Amino acid sequence: MPIPTAITRLPERTTELGALLMTWAEINSGSGHLAGLDRMRAALRSAFSSIPGVIIEELPCAGTAAALRISIRPAAKFRILLSGHFDTVYEANDPFQHCRWLDSERLNGPGVADMKGGLVTLLAALQSFEATPHADTIGWDVLLTPDEETGSHGSAHLFRTAPSRVHFGLVFEPARPNGNIVQSRMGTGGAIITCHGRAAHVAKVPNDGCNAILALAEFLLAAQKIPAELPGVLLTVANIRGGGPATNVVPDFAQSELDLRITQFTDRALLTDRLNALASPINARAGYHLAVDVRFNRPPKECLPAEELLFPEWQRAAQDLGLAPFTWVHTGGASDGNFLAAAGLPSLDGVGPIGDQLHSPREFVIVPTIAQRAQVVALCLHRLAAGEIILPRVGA
Ligand SMILES: [Zn+2]
Repeated sequence: MPIPTAITRLPERTTELGALLMTWAEINSGSGHLAGLDRMRAALRSAFSSIPGVIIEELPCAGTAAALRISIRPAAKFRILLSGHFDTVYEANDPFQHCRWLDSERLNGPGVADMKGGLVTLLAALQSFEATPHADTIGWDVLLTPDEETGSHGSAHLFRTAPSRVHFGLVFEPARPNGNIVQSRMGTGGAIITCHGRAAHVAKVPNDGCNAILALAEFLLAAQKIPAELPGVLLTVANIRGGGPATNVVPDFAQSELDLRITQFTDRALLTDRLNALASPINARAGYHLAVDVRFNRPPKECLPAEELLFPEWQRAAQDLGLAPFTWVHTGGASDGNFLAAAGLPSLDGVGPIGDQLHSPREFVIVPTIAQRAQVVALCLHRLAAGEIILPRVGA
């Protein structure tokens, strides 16, 4: 079947899409900046309302700004979720607020890749898909959330209920710098290690002080060896504090936070058990108490069978459009794709444009890849709508 012109002509919009991205990137929407998130949501609402027939809802999220859902054809037999977040890691007081061109294709700016460039890609893909001949046979939900960068605590419920509305998900995180998309993601969590000892004057003889800093250091040095024994687990000692202003006191308090990442769901229990086991010998000593508080947030995104079916179609669409080949890879970073996987919804993740240096003032996106990746999305949606690609129905 020929590729509809609404899709082949998308690259003609590259300049316009780059300009839209600059406008969106310069609206500060740091995860903690509620007024900015409201402004960004209003900009998105206005852009998506250009698609005829959409239903737009603002969905409350505890502790943060509202999310936005734009949907079409709620009764369609096959429905797709297109998921994105409109918060960034750059807060209102961050010096990085403006865009600049690094060369004719690379745009540097806050969130240009992660993921305002993904949101422009999502919009362009749907505008193009809606102009293809079989579009009315499938439906879609766009879910845009305000708190992905801080763990999606307020919006997680929206991902849990997604399988009751849709059959497959697309997550518009950026593609890897070499163009690859994401096959699986690590799950994320953290641990707070709190050590209490016994204060004493440093010169007391005999000294019955119990140095909480040293006991915590002993624990941390042992903990950082755990990944060598548990493949697929990452553990990083991220910060530490302890003692007080007086240096003539044996410190009775020390605390550290760990970043934890896991590849398989079963790693949760294994890692928690190892950490608790390391605390036991310290707690067996008189005068010490070391508490381990482990919290997992996003579960790992493992690869599901429907994803194995769709990914080769994604590659074929890119090939048919004359785009550079790519594959899919495992990554340590988490996204809302992790929540979709936990809810049982298959999804392709990293379907946004190509960018690099995320979460830094060097963040950039390769602007022509916005229209290119939108073409791949629109062509796959078109082939699903035309019955050329058939996916098993999960969920609803
Ligand atoms: Zn992101």
